[in-house]
Amino acid sequence: MDPQAKSELVIQGIAASKGIAHGQAFLYLQNELEVPLYTVDADKRGAEIERFEQALVVTRQQISKIQDQVARDLSPEEALIFDAHQLVLEDQALIGETIRAFEKTGLNIETCFNNIAQRYIQAFAEIDDEYLRDRSADIKDVAKRVLQVLLGQAASSLTELVEQRIIVAPDISPSESAGVDRSAALGIVTDAGSHTSHAVIVARSMKIPAVVGTRDLSSKLKNGDWLIVDGYEGLVIVNPTEQTLFRYGKIQQAKQTFETHLLAVNELAAETLDGVHVSLRANIEKPDEVALVRQYRAQGVGLYRTEYLFFATEEIPTEEQQYAAYREIVAGLAPAPVTIRTLDVGGDKPLPGRPDLIGPEANPFMGFRAIRMCLENPELFKDQLRAILRASAHGRVELMYPMISGPDELTRANNLLQEARLELTQRQQAFDPQLRVGAMIEIPSAAIASDLLAGQCDFFSIGTNDLIQYLLAIDRGNSRVAALYDPVHPAVLRVLQQIITAGHARNIKVSVCGEMAGDAIYVPLLLGLGVDELSMAPSLLPTAKYLIRTLKMSDARQLAQAALAQTDAKKTYALIEAFYHARMQAN
Ligand code: PEP
Ligand code: MG
Repeated sequence: MDPQAKSELVIQGIAASKGIAHGQAFLYLQNELEVPLYTVDADKRGAEIERFEQALVVTRQQISKIQDQVARDLSPEEALIFDAHQLVLEDQALIGETIRAFEKTGLNIETCFNNIAQRYIQAFAEIDDEYLRDRSADIKDVAKRVLQVLLGQAASSLTELVEQRIIVAPDISPSESAGVDRSAALGIVTDAGSHTSHAVIVARSMKIPAVVGTRDLSSKLKNGDWLIVDGYEGLVIVNPTEQTLFRYGKIQQAKQTFETHLLAVNELAAETLDGVHVSLRANIEKPDEVALVRQYRAQGVGLYRTEYLFFATEEIPTEEQQYAAYREIVAGLAPAPVTIRTLDVGGDKPLPGRPDLIGPEANPFMGFRAIRMCLENPELFKDQLRAILRASAHGRVELMYPMISGPDELTRANNLLQEARLELTQRQQAFDPQLRVGAMIEIPSAAIASDLLAGQCDFFSIGTNDLIQYLLAIDRGNSRVAALYDPVHPAVLRVLQQIITAGHARNIKVSVCGEMAGDAIYVPLLLGLGVDELSMAPSLLPTAKYLIRTLKMSDARQLAQAALAQTDAKKTYALIEAFYHARMQAN
């Protein structure tokens, strides 16, 4: 923002993750670096060298932080690469030459450092030795970080966020969002995105307040601008006045009091007033969320998105690495069940390190993604299947396939699973022979053929995020059409009913793990339609449980029947909203 114009500005976006944040903006723009060129006054040259030395220290801290995170999330071996980066920062030739060039020319330190670094990068790149050629990439990476620190620019990766800031970006990819450090990210604001885009799902899991769909806000802000992110109402307030800050202080207090009450109720059973128990589980993206699953009293995990393990590394994780991660979750939660979903990449989730496996596509959401890619890469898929099977020996695992479009794909996936079982038997490695296998129902064809699929699996898990996207032809990540993304569209309700009926006709469990399950306003409707289990971000569980304890299942069933009879989605929404408010306010 223009530094002269410090007046408050309120921007309406889409409320994506509940909560209120107040802090300074951290712009994440991923632009190419532009290094300015100027001469430093003679009396400021000492300070310029100090600025350089300080930048080296800050860069060192950033790299250590990333290194610790990689060691924790992946393995100590993967973290070793950063040792090479630290060595670059200690390279006396690079540092000494930069300072000498500065003393000789008086040009700003960024220019001197950039010139010397580029010379080294070029020289190493031309060496006919693979090891030394790799050093060129290390110097390039480190030089970019040092320049960013010197220029006070946003870092090239969100993992580098050290101070507590509100991340503001045009968009954030799922893999970038996975690198966000909860302790540093106060809030997230993106110009693009919608309620079900993957970065938002990650923000919700981490309980980071988020507002998306702010159009061009990121291009108007400066690093360090003060903001309030209101994840309840979908507002971003730039340069909030004292009155606004006071008002938000009050709102936050009230929310916290209610949250404390919710947490107390969350210790009780998820049981309706007429005695029906509802299974509530958590969605997770990373092994370290096991603690949240317990803290929020989930009865297990209903969706573990394994692709986030693949996002954390440049290489495809090996069977052993996957097994270690899955076992940590499964053993950590045993005897509670953990539903592990096989790799769901493609669409808006590219696979880092192996972009060749999917390739550029004109229509990635309808492209070579998830189970389609896995079935065409059976060795990669079976590595994962064996890792999941082996983890099943340490607790209770349910396995499910994403993006199943019909019976043929489910048969092919199950055949590969059977091969994986036989391979483990030959290796004499243990797995649970009773492992339950389910299909996600998130493509309209699977929903329509759900009666056929029900005979081929042990449970259904409805992925409403994709199911609604494909049913209504609304890109789930596009803020321009987000308002048309309607979970109570008559077609959606009919399809939900059809899936539930098909599952129950075969006595299999039907759960919902899309974001609709975690939005309390839809909970009575889903239960009334007959859904057996809901799975959502851990922090959303208390509200869902609170609501369940205030309703009668018989009323929820009536609500669902009334909703199914409606032709106008707005009236349907009004019905479920009235049902919700009547129960939330009565308590
Ligand atoms: C869904 O599509 O509803 C779902 C749960 O899967 P994801 O959000 O990972 O696509
Ligand atoms: Mg999906």
